[in-house]
Amino acid sequence: MPQLEPYRYSRINPLRWSEKEIETRQGWTCPHRHNGVQHPRCYNDAHGIVERKGFLDLETSNLSADFGTILTWCFKDLGSDTLWYDFLTDADVRSGDADKRIVSTLVDTLWQFDRIVGHYSTYFDVPFMRTRVLHWKLPFPQYGMLWHSDVWMMARKKLKLHSNRQDSVAESLHGDHLKTRLSPDVWNQVLFGSASQRQANIKEVLHHNEQDVLEGARNYETLLPYVRETRTSI
Ligand SMILES: [Zn+2]
Repeated sequence: MPQLEPYRYSRINPLRWSEKEIETRQGWTCPHRHNGVQHPRCYNDAHGIVERKGFLDLETSNLSADFGTILTWCFKDLGSDTLWYDFLTDADVRSGDADKRIVSTLVDTLWQFDRIVGHYSTYFDVPFMRTRVLHWKLPFPQYGMLWHSDVWMMARKKLKLHSNRQDSVAESLHGDHLKTRLSPDVWNQVLFGSASQRQANIKEVLHHNEQDVLEGARNYETLLPYVRETRTSI
């Protein structure tokens, strides 16, 4: 996975513009006689620059990030069908560094986007991820550098359901839900099984993870026309 330069990648978030991006924008004039730094929206519209968004879901070994690790992570690029993912391998477990490698690939992938979307991510995925990233002393996006939308919040405000869980939202909006249920055996074998059991079961967890991001992304896209997306920071 390529090591991106943090903070200087986005074409849409002024906090992450490169020197070159600023220079190019300054040399351009919009119909209102301003340059692309003064009128970023004019510049973006004229150049077809849109937010890059990714739907993220983590599978973790525990609900607390100091007593748990990331087992798998998966992103659905909301502008395409691309899925990005990584999972804990047997080598990772044997290295003694737990989720350090996959936390590093996660944070590299994070920087590819302008906006991170999740379900209940305000209270789970984002803080869990931030805790793991800071634990491994990697560059987590600072305040304002990456925007965030939470489908759980969108559902809570815009729908009236008995539960705002992702599967309930999917059931109500689409009449079905893709979410595969993981048996407790799978979790136990991922954590405590033999090498071959761990390998087989982590694939199960990853499959579940992929289904989750597909379902979450579908919920997001269905609710999106009814919300005003804000530049809320992760
Ligand atoms: Zn303008």
